[in-house]
Amino acid sequence: MKFEKREILLIVGILFIMIGVMALPHMNLIYSVAIAISLYFAIRVFIGRRKKQIQREVGQGICVTCGAKITQGKCPKCDSA
Ligand SMILES: [Zn+2]
Repeated sequence: MKFEKREILLIVGILFIMIGVMALPHMNLIYSVAIAISLYFAIRVFIGRRKKQIQREVGQGICVTCGAKITQGKCPKCDSA
């Protein structure tokens, strides 16, 4: 549900950008639609990667000894020696 709401906000934002691009000189409809669609997919890929990254970080947690983030199952400070 939360993700869907975000999706709508993203689409509305993209539409506004598309209208703004259309208002620029030497821009036709096809260009502005192409820019809007590529922007939409770029943002979606970016959000997807961030989500995965956050999930990975949350899943691995923090080191009980020093409080650093656990990466690849190890504490970068305590287990690197
Ligand atoms: Zn540690």
